[in-house]
Amino acid sequence: MKDQSLPKGLRPETLAVRTSIERSQYGENSEALYLTTGFVQPDAATSAERFASGEGYTYARTSNPTVTMFEQRLAALEGTEAAIGASSGMGAILMMIMGLLKAGDHVVLSRSMFGSTLNLFAKEFGKFGVETTFCSQTDVDEWRAAVKPNTRLLFAETPTNPLTEVCDIAALAEIAHAAGALLAVDNAFATPLLQRPTELGADLVMHSGTKYLDGQGRVMAGALCGSRQLITEKFAPVVRTAGMVLSPFNAWVVLKGMETLGVRVKAHCDNALTIARWLEAQSNVARVYYPGLPSHPQHELAMRQQSGLGGGVLSFELAGDTPEAARAKAFHVIDSCRVLSIATNLGDTKTIISHPATTSHGRLTEAQRQAAGISQGTIRLAVGLEHHEDIQDDLLRGLATLGA
Ligand SMILES: *Cc1c(COP(=O)(O)O)cnc(C)c1O
Repeated sequence: MKDQSLPKGLRPETLAVRTSIERSQYGENSEALYLTTGFVQPDAATSAERFASGEGYTYARTSNPTVTMFEQRLAALEGTEAAIGASSGMGAILMMIMGLLKAGDHVVLSRSMFGSTLNLFAKEFGKFGVETTFCSQTDVDEWRAAVKPNTRLLFAETPTNPLTEVCDIAALAEIAHAAGALLAVDNAFATPLLQRPTELGADLVMHSGTKYLDGQGRVMAGALCGSRQLITEKFAPVVRTAGMVLSPFNAWVVLKGMETLGVRVKAHCDNALTIARWLEAQSNVARVYYPGLPSHPQHELAMRQQSGLGGGVLSFELAGDTPEAARAKAFHVIDSCRVLSIATNLGDTKTIISHPATTSHGRLTEAQRQAAGISQGTIRLAVGLEHHEDIQDDLLRGLATLGA
């Protein structure tokens, strides 16, 4: 039989398609979906040995071959030794908190992070005595000043939702390591195709597989990527006992989604840049937020850190004399669309238009929203793969009739 192993040094596009565990005896070319909870053991001694070591397959809350394929493929793309799947992006963050922190530990986070992330740390784990400090997304000195003797973790997300603010991963890694803490990065927006945080010094990468990794808005999934030691010693025991396990079916869908990640992400970025430039030229658009535009405050950092690409998400602002007037304009543009979807998600082939002030950031007070830079006139676009002129025409239906 010829050598079945993959040669070393394969490039990301190839790893995204080829990284897998061994084929079964049937030689399937497309990876198998193992929809099974239990695994039949050849004999009692092997069963005992697998339960003791955690190696080999026993029960799907511990591991499943399709989930292993997802984990190995994602780790190959992120360039980490290992990865571990979770039921969703939030499930991955829950696993991270439970694996790394105890009462009395301190965490530093950007205050621009995903809303559920902020709530999980401050509200849910605040109840258990985990301390949190929130810092500016872009002011590195604020992070340095926030570190305390009990700081165990710095957690950042870049670019952020919805204003695409970019933080300096390498600078935050230096602060974390000087304090004896770890840096984790939520890489859901950039994906490993644009940005590999561990190459910039981060210790852990968190993913919502629900977004670009699936890429077609079908299933929930999440993961943590990092050293084999962290994954096997800190996180695998948490999933096994707490059960935020990734379903094999969802793992399979995302595994197949990752095969087209490279071409999709590039197409999302091309479309988003074209639309961002077009929006900037519209007289009734007050401001466009997109890392690929020279007008973005962290444009240079973003281009350096994100392989020269801006990502698939952008936001823009419609000005109004009052918050109510700005909101009415935003609703008019959103409701005039006949192609784009009003939905909650991103990283889908379908372009999604949303109003952060009344959805993702609806639970904040008006003052908190203003501090975050989100107004009633802010609209977010998670740009999909439709033809860019059709997306522009759809936005123009509302933009051209704003004064009417
Ligand atoms: C969606 C998202 C999450 C949460 O992931 P789920 O899979 O929805 O649980 C976390 N971080 C970012 C940046 C996200 O966009």
